Amino acid sequence: MGFEYAPAPESRSIVDIKPSYGLFVNGEFVDGHGKSFKTISPATEEVLAEVAEADESDVDAAVKAARRAYEKVWGPMPGRERAKYLYRIARIIQERSRELAVLESLDNGKPIKESRDVDVPTVAAHFFYYAGWADKLEYAGRGADPRPLGVAGQVIPWNFPLLMLAWKIAPALACGNTVVLKPAETTPLTALLFAEICQQADLPPGVVNIVTGAGATGQALVGHAGVDKVAFTGSTEVGKAIARAVAGTDKKVTLELGGKAANVVFDDAPLDQAVEGIVNGIFFNQGHVCCAGSRLLVQESVADELLAKLKRRMSTLRVGDPLDKNTDIGAINSAEQLAKIRDLSEIGESEGAGRWSPACDLPTTGFWFPPTLFTGVSQAHRIAREEIFGPVLSVLTFRTPSEAVEKANNTPYGLSAGVWTEKGSRILSMANQLRAGVVWANTFNKFDPTSPFGGFKESGYGREGGRHGLEAYLK
Ligand code: NAP
Ligand code: MG
Repeated sequence: MGFEYAPAPESRSIVDIKPSYGLFVNGEFVDGHGKSFKTISPATEEVLAEVAEADESDVDAAVKAARRAYEKVWGPMPGRERAKYLYRIARIIQERSRELAVLESLDNGKPIKESRDVDVPTVAAHFFYYAGWADKLEYAGRGADPRPLGVAGQVIPWNFPLLMLAWKIAPALACGNTVVLKPAETTPLTALLFAEICQQADLPPGVVNIVTGAGATGQALVGHAGVDKVAFTGSTEVGKAIARAVAGTDKKVTLELGGKAANVVFDDAPLDQAVEGIVNGIFFNQGHVCCAGSRLLVQESVADELLAKLKRRMSTLRVGDPLDKNTDIGAINSAEQLAKIRDLSEIGESEGAGRWSPACDLPTTGFWFPPTLFTGVSQAHRIAREEIFGPVLSVLTFRTPSEAVEKANNTPYGLSAGVWTEKGSRILSMANQLRAGVVWANTFNKFDPTSPFGGFKESGYGREGGRHGLEAYLK
C-alpha cells in the first residue's frame, strides 16, 4: 500500500537444471530400475526435470553402498578427518549459495529472500557446527568413546528441502554414520545438487546416497533390514506408520512431526513488534512450517487494537513470483496442499469463524493462497485443532494467564510456542507451563544449529540440533 514496487527478479541463469536425473548411489549418478516422475515449479506449473523413482532394488543398492562405506571408510576414519569433509561441504554450500537458493525457490515455490537469507545460510551453518563436533564426540554426553550407529535411513518433507537435508545429514556424518536420504517427491532437486557438492568435496563414495521417489520409496528405505537408524520429518500420520513399521526391530528412530503452535500475546506486549512476530510466525514460507504460530492467542483487552494493526500489516504483504526479491509469500508447494488449505478454510467458514484476507491479485497459473486470518475461532473448531500447513491464522482470545496456558496446551501437538510480554518473569513462568519443545519469547521462528529442536506428544520424539542432536546418531 502507498507505493508500488518495480519487479526485481533474481536471474535463474545461475542454475543449470538437467532434463533428467538419476539416483545418487555409491558416489555416482545411476539410472533407477523404477519409473520416473516430473518435478514442477509450483509458481508456474512448468516441468523442471524428470527424476528417477527408486524401487526396492535401488534402495537396496543404496543401503549396501552405505554399509560398505560405513565399515571400510567412514566409521573407522578419525573424527578430525571426517570434520575436514564436513567443513569442505559447508564452504562449497556458501560458495554455491545463490545457485542453491534459486533452485530451492524454483522447485519449492518459496520466496528467494527466504531461501537466500534463511534456508541456505542455515544449511551452511549446520554443516559448520557439526563439523566442529566430529573430533569432540567424547564431550557429547554419551561416554568416553561413543560409537556411530551405522547406516541411517532418512526421509524428509518438501517444506524446507535443503534445510531438512542438512539437519539429517550433518549430525549423522559427524558421528561417523553413513546415510541414505529420500527427499520429498515435489522437491528433489536441491538434494541432487547437494549430491554434486558431495562429489566436488571428494566425499568417499557411499557415505551419502540420495534415493528420489514418493512414499513407496520412503517405505522401502525405513523397512530395509540393513538400516540401523531411521530419521523422519513429516506428517504425524506417516510418522505413526513408520513407528509401527520399525516396532520390534532394533532400529533407533527419531520422528519430527506436525504442530499447531500457540503464539500468545499479553496486554503488556509491544504490539508493533508482536505484529511482526505474528506475521513471521504464520506467513513465513507460506505457513508450510511445522512450528508455525498458527493459533494466535491474544489477551482480550488488546485484541481489537492488535487485530487492526495485524490487518494493516497483512495488507502490505506481497504475494507472487518466488524469484522476485520483493516477494513475501510465494507459491503453495503443490495442488494437493492447496486443496487441503482450501478445504480447511471452507470448513472454518462453515463452522462460523470470520474469514478475512487483504485484497491481493493472485497469479492465474500455479498454486496460490492469500494470507488469511480467522476471527471468532473457538477451541472446538477444526481450524483451531488441525494443522493447515498454509498461510492461515486462527485467532482466539483469553483473559487470564492461566486461561492462556490451558488453551495453548489444548492440542495433541507440542512442537513450539511463542510468548509476547514485557515481563521477564511472565516469560519464564509461561515457558515452564507450555508443553512445547521450543518456546520463543518476543520473537518467533528463530533457528540456530546450536539449539535443539523437537516435539512433545504427537509432534514426535528425539531432538535435532545442538549437542542433543548428536545423541540420535551415537550408541
Ligand atoms: P508426509 O506425507 O509425512 O511426507 C514426508 C516424507 O515421507 C516425504 O518424503 C514422503 O514422500 C515420505 N513418505 C510418505 N509416506 C511414507 C511412508 N509410508 N513411509 C516412509 N516415507 C513416507 O508429510 P508432508 O505432507 O510431505 O509434509 C508436511 C508435514 O510434515 C506436516 O504435517 C508438517 O508438520 C510436518 N513437518 C514436520 C517438521 C518437524 O520438524 N517436526 C518439519 C517439517 C514438516 P512423498 O511426499 O515424496 O510422497
Ligand atoms: Mg517441485
